[in-house]
Amino acid sequence: MRKQIAAANWKMNLTVSQGAALLDDILKAGLSLSDHQQAIFAVPFPYLSMAQSKLAHSGRFAVAAQNCSNKKSGAFTGEVSAEMLHSMEIGYCVIGHSERREYFAESNQVLAEKLDLCLENQITPIFCCGEPLQIREAGIQNSYVETQLRESLFHLSQDQLEKIVIAYEPIWAIGTGRTASTQQAQEMHAHLRAVLAGHYGDLVAGRISILYGGSVKASNAAELFQSPDVDGGLVGGASLNAPEFIRIIASLK
Ligand code: PEP
Repeated sequence: MRKQIAAANWKMNLTVSQGAALLDDILKAGLSLSDHQQAIFAVPFPYLSMAQSKLAHSGRFAVAAQNCSNKKSGAFTGEVSAEMLHSMEIGYCVIGHSERREYFAESNQVLAEKLDLCLENQITPIFCCGEPLQIREAGIQNSYVETQLRESLFHLSQDQLEKIVIAYEPIWAIGTGRTASTQQAQEMHAHLRAVLAGHYGDLVAGRISILYGGSVKASNAAELFQSPDVDGGLVGGASLNAPEFIRIIASLK
C-alpha cells in the first residue's frame, strides 16, 4: 500500500516552548502507526533540532522543513540549503506551498531546482500544487495543476519521482475553513495520478502518495482520507491543536 501521511504545517506559528508542548501532547497520545502510515511535522527552521530530539525515538513520526533554497550554497543571506537540512538528518521538506508561490514569487522553474537539490540530498520533497479560486470558478483547474506538475516534476527520472510526495492544496481551501468536497478532492487526485501515469506509467503513478490540503480538520479527515486516491493530508491550522491533530493522524487509512 502507498504511504498514508498526516503532515502538519506549523507555518510561522508557535514559540519554541509552545511547539515542544504540542509535540509532547501528541506523543502522549501513544498513537501506534502501521508500516504504511506516517506523521510528519513541518516546523520552522529554528525548531528543527527540538522537534528531531522529541521525535527521534517515536517510530513513524518525522520532521520536515517548510522550505529550502534553490541554491546549493554561498552568499544567500537568510537562506537554508538542502545540504544543511541533510546534515541535520531532516528527511522531508515542503516545496512550493502556495504561500511561498504567492508571497515569495516562487515559479515552477525555481521549484524544480529545489526539488533537484532535495533529491540530491536524500530529502523527500512534499511538493504542493493547487489552483486559485478564479481558476476553479473558470473550470480549468485540471490543466492549471497539470502545468504545475509538468513544469516542476517532469524532468525527474522514474526513480526520482518515486521519492516525492505530492500535496494537492486548492488555494481557496487553505486557511479559509472551506474544504474541497470529498468528490472534488478525489476527482483532482485521480486526475493528478492519471497525469503522472501518462508520463511515468501506471505502476509509478500508483506508488506516489498524494495528500490533500485545505482546511482539513478532525471532523472531515476520515471522510477525505477514505477516498481511494487521497493518501492523507497536509494540515495547517488544525495541526496546531493536539487533540485535533491526533484525531487526524488516527483517521489515516
Ligand atoms: C496548509 O498550510 O497547507 C493548509 C492546508 O492550511 P489549513 O489546513 O489551515 O487550510
